[in-house]
Amino acid sequence: MWLACFGLASMSAWGVIQFDNRYYSPRNRERPIRKSTSLIILHTTEAPSRSALRKLSDLGECHYCIDEGGRVYRIIDHRREAYHAGRSMWNGRPNVDGFSVGIEVCGYHNKPLNAAQYRALADLIGEVKHIYKIPDHNVITHAHVAYGAPNKWHKRSHRGRKRCGMMFALPSVRNRLNLKSRPASDPDVKARRLVVGDTYLSQVLYGKGPAALAARPVAIAKEEGNVIVKGRSAWDIARDAYNDKTTLYTFPNGTKKFGNQIADFKQLPVGTRITVRADVQENRTETYQVVGVNGKAQDIAGDEARRPTTIYVRPDGKYVRGSQLSLEEIKKLPYGTKVLVGYSVGGPVTAKRLATAICGNRWRSPDTFFLIEGVLVPGNKVDDAKIPSGTMIFFKS
Ligand SMILES: [Zn+2]
Repeated sequence: MWLACFGLASMSAWGVIQFDNRYYSPRNRERPIRKSTSLIILHTTEAPSRSALRKLSDLGECHYCIDEGGRVYRIIDHRREAYHAGRSMWNGRPNVDGFSVGIEVCGYHNKPLNAAQYRALADLIGEVKHIYKIPDHNVITHAHVAYGAPNKWHKRSHRGRKRCGMMFALPSVRNRLNLKSRPASDPDVKARRLVVGDTYLSQVLYGKGPAALAARPVAIAKEEGNVIVKGRSAWDIARDAYNDKTTLYTFPNGTKKFGNQIADFKQLPVGTRITVRADVQENRTETYQVVGVNGKAQDIAGDEARRPTTIYVRPDGKYVRGSQLSLEEIKKLPYGTKVLVGYSVGGPVTAKRLATAICGNRWRSPDTFFLIEGVLVPGNKVDDAKIPSGTMIFFKS
């Protein structure tokens, strides 16, 4: 079939998939062409399309988005890089954005899609699989590939930073998407690059017991309790959003506090109810943690506290790598020190060495930081005409 050589764009002409280009992202022109494509990553927006589509388009955060009616929007050209996976790794390869196509579905990680969405998603997956020769077990979810840097709950880098899209791992759901297989285990946990940070999630993704095989999204939603009990901590319920100002804690005596008002998350009484805004939890951009606000420096960075890839930016604007400090010195870092875990240092920016030469296309990413006059400015907020000479850049390594 000669038409096939025109790729996806021409598919709409066949009437297989009717693409809607109304949210085609202005970011397209700045995104590089990927060198390889071996994964399809499925996401759930955790928000209705009326708010999700605008943001996805403005920030170029996926290649396609399927709304509640099954309409398929093109956001980023499928050959270019979309920023959809954040801190991610699969089979030892970091930065999954560099070798994957990202599809967002307007829905929730624990709720079933509607029939129109299942149909549209199955068709779209079929086309992308065909173009890039992707096997079924490489059609996975954001929850499979996202990982978190150490934090006060986990001393090591861990899987389970997000549950985004997790129900696409269920055999019952994959059947409806014509996917015949799924990954049997987590390759990065197996190789000890990461530890399990969310046992419930790994049960959903890889569980082999009868319960997991029968699991349906509806049953999953019921099991995801939001009350602290023995064996279910604030981390298990809220994960990255545990200390967010929009995460509400209702204590057994009726008092309420927000996540940013709580000091000791490990002493919360059993029976405390946690209300998390799903869109905040799943769509947050990873940022730095602050000593005193998010805990002690040694807890924030865990086992990575003394690595060269852990960067401490003191309140006076000077930075130091973890490998340059003793544990005693790390413990004495002042209140307000910002901590970046898993980062490379690049720079300085000069008239002859611009940000792109230092960290490539990551320079515009919201999780890349420019140290300008002592302040960390995220890549998506930096004014590229006004980056002072001498600026250092911290980007994900
Ligand atoms: Zn996601």
